Amino acid sequence: MAETKDYDVVIVGGGPGGLCAGLYSARARRRTVCLEKYLPGGQIAVTGDVEDYLGFERIQGADLAMKFADHARKFGLEVETEEVEEVYTDGDYRVARCASGNVFRGKAVILSTGGSPVFLNVPGEKEYSGKGVSYCAICDGAFFKDQVIGVVGGGDAAVEEGTFLTKFASKVYIIHRRDQLRAQKIIQQRAFDNDKVEFIWDTVVEQIEGDGRRVSNLKLKNAKTGEKSDLAVGAVFPYIGFRPNSQITREKLRTDEGGYILTNQNMETSIEGIFACGDVRAQLVRQITNAVGDGTTAAVAAEKYIEALEDKHARKP
Ligand code: NAP
Repeated sequence: MAETKDYDVVIVGGGPGGLCAGLYSARARRRTVCLEKYLPGGQIAVTGDVEDYLGFERIQGADLAMKFADHARKFGLEVETEEVEEVYTDGDYRVARCASGNVFRGKAVILSTGGSPVFLNVPGEKEYSGKGVSYCAICDGAFFKDQVIGVVGGGDAAVEEGTFLTKFASKVYIIHRRDQLRAQKIIQQRAFDNDKVEFIWDTVVEQIEGDGRRVSNLKLKNAKTGEKSDLAVGAVFPYIGFRPNSQITREKLRTDEGGYILTNQNMETSIEGIFACGDVRAQLVRQITNAVGDGTTAAVAAEKYIEALEDKHARKP
């Protein structure tokens, strides 16, 4: 049966930002819950090797995610599997309503909702999703052992995950719409040094084809010359960025033109008592390191906000 549960702080999303906010909030002795629809860890739970989180030269994303969650739980964070459908303000409560019907009320809410993959939006993409079209190399890469794989994009995710896929694939083609990558140089270099990785520059995927059961071919077009070609593949992994999951509040939140939530330096959003951290927030970089920094700030700012709220109530005659 659906329940209403009261907390001091409700965190929506269990990525590094949310879990770190949970750690700090629980250590401040605030009753804190983190609501996550899948596994704690967010994107890192489905990332291969993580090499850029200080103190861990190399660690599997799923292992790091587990460490984050265990650490925060040890200090009292409650983690619940819940899909939050809406966040809204009800007097002094900040409320998260879940698909299960459960309602979590907090004095403050921290949004750590990250983002979702951007789709190519080409014919065949939906049809072959789960049949050779995948957005998660670590989850699905092993299904395509000794096959040719196409990866689309030129950012960190495409180049890093494309290189990771060479563990399974006979060959990985990274198809990029320009002739320059935006991935970090060290990630680029590793791909250039890998014999199994080949780049197809200035090229877009126009269609994903197959026999109805699985992917077999990509229809490509050179963005400069217009020349069309075919690439036989067993799978394709689009890694063309992600969109922030910021459309969750009933009241309108201020965002930038890309939909990323605008905050001040204390992670306060345009709605009092609602804070944001990590990839959903407008900022220059989206890394684990700054997500946990954001989470720390959000938790401390939420604590100060709650203290002020409690002072206000204590002073009331
Ligand atoms: P991203 O940095 O936004 O890169 C997206 C790539 O996809 C760009 O190269 C872009 O091309 C291309 N693209 C966009 N729309 C396209 C379309 N419709 N068709 C074809 N290509 C398209 O996204 P990301 O790689 O997913 O990374 C997201 C964030 O996570 C970044 O801040 C990144 O640094 C971070 N991240 C970090 C790591 C790491 O540090 N190890 C790993 C993964 C992700 P253009 O270059 O032409 O715009």
